[in-house]
Amino acid sequence: MNTCSENYRLILKHLHRALLRAGRAETDARLLVVSKTWPADALRPLCDLGHRAFGESRLQEAEEKITLLPRALEWHFIGHIQKNKVRRILGHFGILHGVDSLDLARRIDSIAREISSRPGIFLEVNLAAEPSKDGFSPEALRRDFAEIAMLRQARLLGLMTIPPPGDSPEQARPWFRKLKALRDELQSAHGVPLPELSMGMSDDFEIAVEEGSTIVRVGSAIFGSRPA
Ligand SMILES: *Cc1c(COP(=O)(O)O)cnc(C)c1O
Repeated sequence: MNTCSENYRLILKHLHRALLRAGRAETDARLLVVSKTWPADALRPLCDLGHRAFGESRLQEAEEKITLLPRALEWHFIGHIQKNKVRRILGHFGILHGVDSLDLARRIDSIAREISSRPGIFLEVNLAAEPSKDGFSPEALRRDFAEIAMLRQARLLGLMTIPPPGDSPEQARPWFRKLKALRDELQSAHGVPLPELSMGMSDDFEIAVEEGSTIVRVGSAIFGSRPA
């Protein structure tokens, strides 16, 4: 078994242990393997183990990779979504994690209707108001949520965040808690289900799972560090 496959199995084990620690079921959170920058050949051993869900953030690179791999895979777009690329993105990806404005959500919904697709969407929240990051501010999300919740073609899955960088994984915990609290608030204020939380990456996915994550996005802990 190659190193990536071993890493992958170890991550799954840690994911399941974190779920048990948190008193959650083994199926309550799943692993999205972040394969950006890695070639199709790097993904094949994981496909052979039965893994299906991969995350990519660069459209061109992903398009090339997707054509080389089995059709049964499930592709998630985790990068920033440019409005003029929505049509192409929806052609390849069933789930989008970086929906960061009302305008973008509307555009996704209307193009999805044209092409009869039902994309799952996560609303990205920039909890620490970091200028370097995309995402709704919590205030903007509270303001725009009612309209987003009315969109009918896109399937609103939940919220996504990337916490600010910290010195230790534990520093991510309060941000994961804030995302969950915001989800609970929106859910009860609007009576709209937001079943999913996309949070947790290589360094902090176990903490994210303890705080309610339903999908962790893990790249470097499986493939090694990406080329600069
Ligand atoms: C690259 C990326 C990841 C994976 O990060 P790792 O630290 O390599 O696990 C997760 N989420 C997003 C949005 C990313 O861009």
